[in-house]
Amino acid sequence: MSDGASDVDPRETARTAAEVRERARRFAHDEIAPHAGAWDKAGRVPRSVVTRLGELGFLAGPLPREVGGSGWNNEIFVGVYEEIGRACSSTRGFLAVHTGLVSQCLFDHARDDDRARWLPKLASGEAIGCYALTEDGAGSDVQSIATTATRDGDDWVLNGSKVWITNGGIADLCIAFARTGEGKRALTGFVLELPVDGLQRLPLGVEPLGHRASDHARLVFDGVRVPDERRLGEVGDGFRIAMSALDHGRLGVAAGAVGIARACLDEAVTHARERRQFGQRIGDFQMVQADLAEIYASTEAASALVERAARAADAHAPDVTRLTSAAKLFATEVAQRAAEKAVLLLGNRGYGDGHSVERHYRDIQGLRIYEGTNHIQRLIIGRSLVGKP
Ligand SMILES: Cc1cc2nc3c(=O)[nH]c(=O)nc-3n(C[C@H](O)[C@H](O)[C@H](O)COP(=O)(O)OP(=O)(O)OC[C@H]3O[C@@H](n4cnc5c(N)ncnc54)[C@H](O)[C@@H]3O)c2cc1C
Repeated sequence: MSDGASDVDPRETARTAAEVRERARRFAHDEIAPHAGAWDKAGRVPRSVVTRLGELGFLAGPLPREVGGSGWNNEIFVGVYEEIGRACSSTRGFLAVHTGLVSQCLFDHARDDDRARWLPKLASGEAIGCYALTEDGAGSDVQSIATTATRDGDDWVLNGSKVWITNGGIADLCIAFARTGEGKRALTGFVLELPVDGLQRLPLGVEPLGHRASDHARLVFDGVRVPDERRLGEVGDGFRIAMSALDHGRLGVAAGAVGIARACLDEAVTHARERRQFGQRIGDFQMVQADLAEIYASTEAASALVERAARAADAHAPDVTRLTSAAKLFATEVAQRAAEKAVLLLGNRGYGDGHSVERHYRDIQGLRIYEGTNHIQRLIIGRSLVGKP
């Protein structure tokens, strides 16, 4: 995220973090939460929401001011992901891809002309970004990507296909990774302006379990030409660049999961205080209190771990990748249990599609899969602990 973030006065960070979180909380409460269920059913988040995210400074929150960003460090920005995730995972997912995977990746690795051209448009919401890594045969095993980029004069020619690309059907810009060689330095990233000749954007052809208001597409590259100037980083550096982008994105996923856990706790507590059975509030039963206590304690622990990972990212700490993986793993598993318990505590109300806990219960499954499944997070943490590259 923004360079020099570690030099920020901690009191200033705390003050800004509280202000930014309050801005995000109000926006999520007033402008997202009342509509999230309807968007889930309609299968889309309105474009006007993207514009609002831009107006509020959220789309470029973690980018430095000199490139049109808000200049917030990770410690500040995780509050935005959390508050938006509390209301709607499809909107938070949009933000994590557009900002975490695309804008921050461009800022870190793109050439000056690409940064100058795209970052202001991405910051305002005039342009939307997508990040195309996954293929039918290459999910967790990114090195097995089969999409090829072949050099032809001043251009590269891309052939292959990508699946489950969030924003893929609506994006104006795509960061795509393709095979340019063999062995360890096999992958290279490219910056594509969309639409582009030879690229088809197709529906996935399945109804997703969650994130139903997100746009997900299959991208088919059939002789797509990209000038060499649109290359992202060096030839063969794609794997490293793709993984560094995921460090940004995973922090957003972890914070979004804390938001889901808090939303489920809120709903469960409200219901426990109101619903009466056997002549008393269900919240008066100790077994119900125990469930609430467990959600509360684990959510606070997840929140503390996300903040610790955010501070490590701001300080460019050597263990940032391990901590970010730990935060993503722990927070998404906590939110999964919180959603499960909330559905049980709300009884038949939580089981119906009109209730937010039912949506959170479906959405949380996606957070455990994308940006590296939770098995892969365990692998990253375990390997790092035993010193395996
Ligand atoms: C809602 C959603 C949005 C997405 N958005 C994007 C996007 O914008 N861009 C993009 O590029 N991709 C996106 N994806 C794809 C996502 O990143 C992949 O689904 C994910 O990386 C896992 O790949 P896979 O589904 O092919 O599972 P696989 O890799 O086939 O894994 C299947 C199972 O095997 C386990 N497994 C695999 N390897 C190992 C191992 N070494 N050790 C232990 N267990 C292992 C996995 O954990 C998993 O449980 C999205 C997916 C979803 C669900």
